[in-house]
Amino acid sequence: MKLSLQNVTKTYPNGLKAIDNITLNISSGMFGLLGPNGAGKSSLMRTIATLQLPDSGMLLFNGDNIFSNKLAYRKHLGYLPQDFGVYPKESALELLNYFAVLKGISSHKDRSIILQRVLEITNLQDVMHKRVSTFSGGMKQRFGIAQLLLNQPKVIIVDEPTAGLDPAERSRFLNVLRNIGTENIVIFSTHLVEDVRDLCNDLAVINKGKLITQISPKEATENLKGKIWEITLSENELIASNRPFEKLSDRYNDINQLITRIYAKEKPLENCISVEPRLEDFYFLTLNRS
Ligand code: ADP
Repeated sequence: MKLSLQNVTKTYPNGLKAIDNITLNISSGMFGLLGPNGAGKSSLMRTIATLQLPDSGMLLFNGDNIFSNKLAYRKHLGYLPQDFGVYPKESALELLNYFAVLKGISSHKDRSIILQRVLEITNLQDVMHKRVSTFSGGMKQRFGIAQLLLNQPKVIIVDEPTAGLDPAERSRFLNVLRNIGTENIVIFSTHLVEDVRDLCNDLAVINKGKLITQISPKEATENLKGKIWEITLSENELIASNRPFEKLSDRYNDINQLITRIYAKEKPLENCISVEPRLEDFYFLTLNRS
């Protein structure tokens, strides 16, 4: 299975180029779309979900132009927008049954099989008789996944699903995605590097509508081996040292010293410590350079 975007561009009526000539090749598995707020992630996902037309460029699913036969493509599509609204007074089971009818699963027997299946995948069996309005944020997100799985989609698009989830809910939710990502294309957007690090076999970084890079998380960190350093000097002191470096991030250690994390091809100063590269380093470096 393959989804290809070729030179896709979308400009809003206010003149803002939210997607700027993006070319991407996405295969089965978990694909992370990473970028800061306003980068164009939702715009790109809405376009892949055929909810808006690009101004130019092509989107192909297994070689077929998705906009020349939107309905055929939509049969394979599951989309969870950022603000998925739910009907308050119904139980999860009642709502899913209702959605299944809307999606054209008319046989009672087929519906009951698929409902059990999606409840199981999303780990909601124990709460299926509870009203969705009483669900926590993480349960609502899993319910959102359950409803999109009803038509057994091959391309699943999930927009910023972990925003606002506490760590336990986030981890449960990501495990559900991991499960469905084994057989399908799952594209999900996030501004959290750790979501991508823990989950994706492929990622793209976008910023200001442009694709900065497409790479696997493994390759991203391997390329940085031997080039990431930590030092207890401030940025100003580092600049004063006159050595070439790129600052990535800083943090305080347990004795309240400021530790600066930098990229440099060679050891920039004597008291620098070489550290294992993290995906965060790659992300900050990529964004700095863009
Ligand atoms: P992200 O999902 O990465 O936060 P978005 O795709 O939501 O980014 O937005 C990209 C840019 O496009 C932002 O500057 C946003 O304000 C703008 N934008 C999004 N939707 C519209 C729209 N319908 N009309 C005009 N501008 C929009």
